[in-house]
Amino acid sequence: MSATRVLVLNSGSSSVKYQLLDMRDSSRLAMGLVERIGEQSSRLKHTPQGGGSREWTGPIADHDAALKAVAEELAKDGLGLDSPELAAIGHRVVHGGKTFTEPTVIDEAVLAEIERLIPVAPLHNPANLTGIRTARALRPDLPQVAVFDTAFHTTMPESAARYAIDVETADAHRVRRYGFHGTSHAYVSRATAKLLGKAPEDVNVIVLHLGNGASASAVRAGRCVDTSMGLTPLEGLVMGTRSGDMDPAVIFHLMRVGKMSTDEIDTLLNKKSGLIGLCGDNDMREIRRRVDEGDEQAKLAFDIYIHRLKKYIGAYYAVLGQVDAIAFTAGVGENAAPVREAAVAGLEPLGLAVDDALNAVRSDEPRLISPADARVAVAVVPTDEELEIATQTYALVGEESN
Ligand code: ADP
Repeated sequence: MSATRVLVLNSGSSSVKYQLLDMRDSSRLAMGLVERIGEQSSRLKHTPQGGGSREWTGPIADHDAALKAVAEELAKDGLGLDSPELAAIGHRVVHGGKTFTEPTVIDEAVLAEIERLIPVAPLHNPANLTGIRTARALRPDLPQVAVFDTAFHTTMPESAARYAIDVETADAHRVRRYGFHGTSHAYVSRATAKLLGKAPEDVNVIVLHLGNGASASAVRAGRCVDTSMGLTPLEGLVMGTRSGDMDPAVIFHLMRVGKMSTDEIDTLLNKKSGLIGLCGDNDMREIRRRVDEGDEQAKLAFDIYIHRLKKYIGAYYAVLGQVDAIAFTAGVGENAAPVREAAVAGLEPLGLAVDDALNAVRSDEPRLISPADARVAVAVVPTDEELEIATQTYALVGEESN
C-alpha cells in the first residue's frame, strides 16, 4: 500500500496543533489541538473529517503525553500513527537562521543546528524541538521533516537583510533580518500568481499576512526580496499585541527613565502593545464594532494600524518597482473588508483600488477585489500553512516511501 498521508505538527510551548492530510487530494482527514499542556485543565479538541469534534479536558503533563493523546484520538478514527499509510511527519519550525533555506529531513545534525539557533528564537525553537523529539520517539522509523518559517526569506539580498549596525557585532550575535510567516508568504505569493493565470516567476507580489501576528513581504518573481519581521517576529506592522516598528531608543528610555527591566519591556512590546495596548482589544471584529459605535480610542488604534500598513505597501512598491498584485491573507486580511479598503484608499495614483462590491464578498476562495481595469490586482488569498508544510514534506519524502 502506498503511503500518502502526512501529519503536520505545530508545537508551541504549551500547545500542539495538528492536521493529518491525504496528499492524493490534499484532503484533511483530521485536525485538532492540545492546549494548556502542563496545567491541570489541559484541553484536547479533535475534529475528524466530516465534523463531529471530540473534546477532552484534564491534566496533560507534557508534550509526550500530548502527542500520545493525539495518537489515541487518531487511532479511534482508524488513522493511528502506526498506519502504513503515514508517509511522514512535517514539523513547523520557527527559526532556521541562515542555515536552513529549504525543508529538511530531520536527523541528529539537523536537531543540533535547530538547538544552536535557540539564542535567536528563545520562545519558539525549544518548543518546536520538544515536538520533534517526542514524535521521533513515537515513530523512530518514520521520515520527519522540518519546514522553517524563515526559509522563504533566505533569498533576501544583504541590503534588505542587514541592519545598519556594526558588522562585527551583528555577525558575532547573528543579528540580521530573518523574517517569519515564510510558509504563508510562499504559499500565498504562488497562489496569487495562479489566480492571475501566471507562473510565480512572472509576477511581483506584495503579500500582507494580517493575523494576530502580522507581516508584509515583497516577492519578486517568486523570491522574497524583503519582509517586515526581523531578528524576531516583533518588527514591522502593528499586530494584535506587538508594537511592530518603533525607535529602538524607546527601550533605553524605558530602562533609564521608566526604570523598567529587560523582561518587563519584552512583555510590554510583545504582549501589551499593538492593538491591545492602543485600545484594549486585539480582535479586529471587536475593534470595528467599537469604531462603528463611535469609540475614539478604537478609531485611533485602527488608524495607526492602517497607517503602518500603508507605509509598508508604499515601501515594498518602491522596492519592487513594478507590482502585479497585492494579496491580503490570514484572519484579518481574509475577513476584514474595512481593513483592505482603508489600506488601499488614496493609492489610486499607484494603480491600486478596491471595488466595494467585490471587497464585501465573503468566500474561502482566492479572489480579486480590484476593479476589472485596475493596473495592479488586489487579491484576497486564504493562506494554508498546514497544506504548504504537508506539500513540502511530501515532496521531500513521498516518492521514497512509495
Ligand atoms: P494567528 O494565526 O496569528 O493567531 P489568525 O490568522 O487566525 O491569527 O487571525 C486571527 C485574527 O483574525 C483575530 O485576532 C481577529 O482579529 C481576526 N479576524 C478573524 N475573523 C475576523 C473577521 N470576521 N473580521 C475581522 N477580523 C477577523
